[in-house]
Amino acid sequence: MTTPDAHAAAMHSFSPETESTVDQVLDYARDRVLHPGVPLDKPLTPKDLARLAGGSITAKGIGGRRAAGLFENVLAPACLSTDHPAYLSFIPSAPSKASVAFDVVVSASAVYGGSWMEGAGAVFAENEVLHWLASEFGLPAGSGGVFMQGGTIGNLSALVTARARARARGAEAGRENPRRWVIVCSAEAHSSIASAAEVMDVDVVLVPPDASGRLHGDGVGAALDEHGDAVFAVVATGGTTNFGIVDDIASIAEVTRSRDVWLHVDGAYGLAAMLVEKMRPVFAGVEHADSLIVDPHKWLFAPFDACALIYRDPSGARSAHTQHAEYLDTLNDTPDWNPSDLGIQLTRRARGLPLWFSIATHGTDRYRAAIEYGIDLAAEIAEEITRRPGLSLVRDPQLSVVVFRRDGWSAADYQAWSDRLLEDQIAFVVPSSHAGEPVLRFAVISPLTTFELLSGILDTLEA
Ligand SMILES: *Cc1c(COP(=O)(O)O)cnc(C)c1O
Repeated sequence: MTTPDAHAAAMHSFSPETESTVDQVLDYARDRVLHPGVPLDKPLTPKDLARLAGGSITAKGIGGRRAAGLFENVLAPACLSTDHPAYLSFIPSAPSKASVAFDVVVSASAVYGGSWMEGAGAVFAENEVLHWLASEFGLPAGSGGVFMQGGTIGNLSALVTARARARARGAEAGRENPRRWVIVCSAEAHSSIASAAEVMDVDVVLVPPDASGRLHGDGVGAALDEHGDAVFAVVATGGTTNFGIVDDIASIAEVTRSRDVWLHVDGAYGLAAMLVEKMRPVFAGVEHADSLIVDPHKWLFAPFDACALIYRDPSGARSAHTQHAEYLDTLNDTPDWNPSDLGIQLTRRARGLPLWFSIATHGTDRYRAAIEYGIDLAAEIAEEITRRPGLSLVRDPQLSVVVFRRDGWSAADYQAWSDRLLEDQIAFVVPSSHAGEPVLRFAVISPLTTFELLSGILDTLEA
């Protein structure tokens, strides 16, 4: 008979050793969350890390104290603090203290978020947030969704659902499947749409946006004329990542509705701005989306990683995504709300809970104010850029991304400046490019990023 083995169970049982490891880790987490002056930090080379941190995997273990020390003193400083107010590249993160603390609770609670049977309480709380978001975006009662890992997986899951509907409609109408299925989107759409198309083995038709970078309904209409029933989804972008440009969703929705084509709105970064009253008109038409995404780990102040994927009618998602297996039938033979059925995943962390806790704690007003601050700060620093000799704006910011150039600089000049800025731990601003021209870009997410900080960075661009 097998009996519990003290050696095997040592890492699961309560003992002075496990207690001290848990204390050490939670103390570190507490300090990291509450400490005001977390440095920006910077990467090390594989060679340096091998020298400083190699050899931690051993038969007997190196002990919690040494492993934690290794993380705190070597590994963590070799990771950029994406929540630093001077981290301004890509899309920064700026999780609220409450959301980060609660992320620890999610781990400690061993919640399985894939099914109602196992995670009812967590799924209920996540759905409270999803329903609030859905109503902000103007989606009808009955819409619903799931928190996925990120926007890439959210977009892919929505597009798979859209294609399943197109296939079903085609079959009902007695049509043959097209030789190649087609997604229509802007040439400025996020790279994850091309990635989804690759995974799905479908084609992407890129429609050129107007001079200001916005996709409109007439361009989409022309693409639909050309590709007909092969088009199973149109993707509108609710805030491009490089510029923060929002497509003309209203005119696009008019076209998709009149042709009965699925409209997906990719709002991974920008759709959060719709929570700000004065920005609502920019997103007009979102209420017609068949599916949409917004990433809480971007502009909704939640920790990595979470994408809210919402469907106007979740039943189509369920038939596209529910996994069937003998051991799962007990979950599927019920009318329960099972989040795993709505996207590409089975086992699921209740990754919407940190956002739920933080919004429940602080209320939605603070969220609106924090997002509005980023929009206003971007407008202010854009104005400052136009005032400074030698700098020019590439385009007026619509959301919280500011793209500008330093006159006369080559790509190499930008790169050298950017490297020095990080080396000196002043800021993390990597060069981007637009229409083949190297440019600089501030992405403002953190409510702790200030005008002084940004204008100080502009100072370093002089002479
Ligand atoms: C960031 C982003 C994505 C991808 O989201 P991930 O969470 O990084 O996978 C998709 N679309 C847009 C517009 C984005 O900004």
